[in-house]
Amino acid sequence: MIRHRMLMGLAAGGLMVAMTASLAVALARLQIEYKSGIIWPEPAVVTPGKTNADPPSDAIVLFDGKDLSKWHNGEKWEIKDGYAVVQKANIVTKDSFGPDYQLHVEFATPEKVTGSGQGRGNSGVYLANRYEVQVLDSYENKTYFDGQCASIYKQTPPMVNACRKPGEWQTYDIIFNSPRFNEDGSLAKPGYVTVIHNGVVVQNHFELQGGTFYDRPPSYSKHPEKQPIQLQNHGNPVRYRNIWIREIKPIEGKKPEK
Ligand code: MG
Repeated sequence: MIRHRMLMGLAAGGLMVAMTASLAVALARLQIEYKSGIIWPEPAVVTPGKTNADPPSDAIVLFDGKDLSKWHNGEKWEIKDGYAVVQKANIVTKDSFGPDYQLHVEFATPEKVTGSGQGRGNSGVYLANRYEVQVLDSYENKTYFDGQCASIYKQTPPMVNACRKPGEWQTYDIIFNSPRFNEDGSLAKPGYVTVIHNGVVVQNHFELQGGTFYDRPPSYSKHPEKQPIQLQNHGNPVRYRNIWIREIKPIEGKKPEK
């Protein structure tokens, strides 16, 4: 009798398992859609450039190959044939950008190779006027790795060396998140940099350790969230063209009122 009840119990249990499984299958087949319930604004329409290097419709063009009127010291650089040649001084945008942006820059290190190490095709893109993404001729040109092309100067080398040959045009697509500071000047949130060099991700959301200096370790000091972009004169005739920027911010949805 007891054995009979046990068998009956096992059979009932098996039936339950089978029914639960079939219920799950049936529910899965119904494919009831999940909805977050968050009310999103419609994303703005942006017309992309003809190629990924061309400025999209919402970009601010900082240099279109004709003049450097949007830059302090712009008159000091030579402009010809749709590009600008580094000489005499650093140039700095008259406007400030931030706290977060996408920056496109095209550059070419000199075709005629002179110098070596840091003395060969050296320039730089300073994000927020102080965090240098190195520009250097690192095509078969050894230097300290956290100072080679696409390094965050003296903080990290690029993950890979994606340099083109001297004289060839190269692209940087940079995503920058400015650090945030507290009222008392302390760091609230570090800055981050992502760099795509010639289509290759070489910096992936790298956490900045502070300003990039030649003669001392990186350190933060409070600055406004909007800052200019600076391009470095390091005494080498590096060329630049097609520079544009897009300030970016997360799209914000809201939860429905109950
Ligand atoms: Mg440099």
